[in-house]
Amino acid sequence: MIKTPVLGIIGGGQLGSLLCKAARKLNIKTCVLSDDSDAPAKKFADDFIYGKYQNINKINQFIKKIDVATFEFENIPVSILKKINKKIKVFPKPQINAIVQNRFLEKKFVNHLKIPTTNYKLIKNRKDIKDISTLLPGILKTTTLGYDGKGQYVIKKLKDFEKNKINFNKEYILEKKIDLKKEISVIVTVFQNKKYSVYEPIENVHKNQILHTSTIPAKISNAVKNKAKNYAVKIAKKLNYIGTMCVEYFIDKNNKLLVNEIAPRVHNSGHLTIEAFNISQFENHVRAVCNFGRKPLKKIRNAKMINIIGSDLLRFKKKKFKKNEYFYDYLKNQIKTNRKMGHLTTLV
Ligand code: ADP
Ligand code: MG
Repeated sequence: MIKTPVLGIIGGGQLGSLLCKAARKLNIKTCVLSDDSDAPAKKFADDFIYGKYQNINKINQFIKKIDVATFEFENIPVSILKKINKKIKVFPKPQINAIVQNRFLEKKFVNHLKIPTTNYKLIKNRKDIKDISTLLPGILKTTTLGYDGKGQYVIKKLKDFEKNKINFNKEYILEKKIDLKKEISVIVTVFQNKKYSVYEPIENVHKNQILHTSTIPAKISNAVKNKAKNYAVKIAKKLNYIGTMCVEYFIDKNNKLLVNEIAPRVHNSGHLTIEAFNISQFENHVRAVCNFGRKPLKKIRNAKMINIIGSDLLRFKKKKFKKNEYFYDYLKNQIKTNRKMGHLTTLV
């Protein structure tokens, strides 16, 4: 019998849980490393290590237990990923994170491929707040460590920098605010033999900068569909990416497609792939990282996913679901406002 590898997953949130579930289906054992002693993925992993990501003892303990490593969120220090990568393989490669962890480097990288993004400017300190009139109204975003709209400020006029009490010890980009027609995302998995599977574009609606619903098919033209898929593959190839990644796009009122950001991991908008496709984004990620081959991807049904945020979970927990409805409770130990607590996918 061929020995299946033990997969190490850094991060223990719902994405980690869903990766563990996919691994189990493939008979792959998992070990999760999380800085939260009560992380949701603890319930789904075969082994669990609680430790801060900078704690070298814990990292070494993690390395000893696993054959290959991946992560469920992109903000792990690159130096730590590189350290792990010296002993065992980390997929996707740590140097990819150095680019996509930073909104400025990420946009520069995308533009270099002749793929459009919003217009932006790097704001390193107060002095950089000049010649920005073409970017207003804009959104000021910390270059690193933002998610679900955290670290973002709407800037309509210069005074708004003062009003928002912007801390200039951090770096930001100021991005032109787009008059959005739609948002879509494309998920792609690249395997170790360079073959890849691309999922069709998913249409996303955000509420308060947090993903609210994801739907397939996206109501966009075939031309935009193809362009979005081609851009995602081009980005993945240029990054020498291995595993599942996601490209988030804006479509403006003139139907122009712009890359918003790249997530070097499985993505919330891809939760519907669990039921809507023969192979989910999670299974494909595990297959790619553990060097299982690519299997042809097939859509089974159209679908809509709703995120369940905060105390809304209590209402869903009491509900009766139909056969085409799939409810996920992330089993977080505490309900928090504006926090993703679960999701519901409906096949249509
Ligand atoms: P996060 O890392 O928090 O996901 P994003 O840059 O993706 O940050 O922003 C979250 C959401 O905020 C986007 O999906 C979009 O709905 C809105 N948003 C962000 N930037 C812009 C922009 N430049 N113009 C219009 N809407 C934006
Ligand atoms: Mg985003």
